[in-house]
Amino acid sequence: MTDKKSSLHDAPVRTRFAPSPTGFIHLGNIRSALYPWAFARSQGGAFILRIEDTDQERSTQAAVDVILEGMAWLGLNHDEGPFYQMQRMARYKTVLADMQARGLVYPCYMSVAELDALRERQMAAKQKPRYDGTWRPEPGKALPPVPEGVQPVLRFKNPLDGSVVWDDKVKGRVEVCNDELDDLVIARPDGTPTYNFCVVVDDIDMRITHVIRGDDHVNNTPRQINIFRALGHEPPVYAHLPTVLNEQGEKMSKRHGAKPVTQYRDEGYLPDAMVNYLARLGWSHGDDEIFSRQQFLDWFNLDHLGASAGRFDETKLRWVNAQHLKTMDDAALSPLVAVQLQKRGIAADERLPALCGLFKDRCETTVQLADWAMPYYTDVQPSDDDRAKHVTEVIQPAIATLHDKLAEVRWDAASIGTTIKEVLAAQQLKMPQLAMPVRVLVMGTPQTPSLDAVLALHHKETVLARLKKA
Ligand code: GLU
Repeated sequence: MTDKKSSLHDAPVRTRFAPSPTGFIHLGNIRSALYPWAFARSQGGAFILRIEDTDQERSTQAAVDVILEGMAWLGLNHDEGPFYQMQRMARYKTVLADMQARGLVYPCYMSVAELDALRERQMAAKQKPRYDGTWRPEPGKALPPVPEGVQPVLRFKNPLDGSVVWDDKVKGRVEVCNDELDDLVIARPDGTPTYNFCVVVDDIDMRITHVIRGDDHVNNTPRQINIFRALGHEPPVYAHLPTVLNEQGEKMSKRHGAKPVTQYRDEGYLPDAMVNYLARLGWSHGDDEIFSRQQFLDWFNLDHLGASAGRFDETKLRWVNAQHLKTMDDAALSPLVAVQLQKRGIAADERLPALCGLFKDRCETTVQLADWAMPYYTDVQPSDDDRAKHVTEVIQPAIATLHDKLAEVRWDAASIGTTIKEVLAAQQLKMPQLAMPVRVLVMGTPQTPSLDAVLALHHKETVLARLKKA
């Protein structure tokens, strides 16, 4: 035992993410992928993707696609898999047959009606409903006569005495007495294996050393540990992550309006910002709020996982995204903005990286960056209000002069800046008196970064044509 334990714990780290494709994966779910991925990466181990699709009625290919796309988008790349449980049925059945041959499981013929009656009796007696072991073979015990025409389920012979103990990396020491666990059904009457059994066979076959998953599975863990041991294996290290709550404080779920992960990509969030934000939703490194993917991997371990539920906060997510946007390289940012523009039917050109550099400071998402790039690729429609307020009759002669002078200059920010200053001096105007109307005409809004830089990135003929509309 001790040998096995130390050899497992000295083995290279192998973690897994094992989603059920029964709904579109949301941020709360994907955080359960982030930590095992980060742990494997930080330890030089392997990260395995396993799709738990045995609930055939609720599993869909569309949900699998969102899992794969979402993980690829966030860069949570796996080393092995995806393995699909439905493709491993033969393996589960082999293990079941082996367990049956070794007397680790037994057939139970109790009908659903009998089970219901048993449960009612127990509830009436204020006892916890549980299977009472009627069909469990014991030396010297006479079993009831096998009813005709009934296909039995297979139940696992849970140990009767002692308790299951594990040192959870989040919850600390957890101990559950075996007399609280009844004999779990591990195969249905048609022979198909049940969930907890498949998980254990997979975790053994995939040589998982650390199971990092949501704490909605904590009740399954003692049962799974007993199955591990019956199969002659020491269980992995467990870390059960607290739930992620939505902004209303409810458990994040599709039913409560949680968006599929891929929607955040479409809404203009950056993968590194998402990783940063999600990482902080249940783990900390001192007071650090903004960090790169590499810093996260350098810092991550299982010792600083939080024990209380994280609460999603969209305002904070937008802030984190804005911080990453500001420091992101323009050449890397540009293709992400190009995708947003493409969705609007606009093909970006070589000016896009410079546009990103000019506007990213005032944006929270790549969607907003695409908004700023729009006047460079399509016509602008200044509002009547902005026109009335800024493009007044008094200023029109100055705009006309600026138009004529700009027509003559070399098209770069420095020359444009000098020209603007000359017009201001000649007409005795202050910068905002001219800059605001020019912005309204050229960009459709009076608020922009420095005018010379804004104009220089436009084509000269565009600026001249828009100034003509004064
Ligand atoms: N398939 C389970 C789920 O999506 C996870 C099982 C596990 O991580 O052990 O909740």
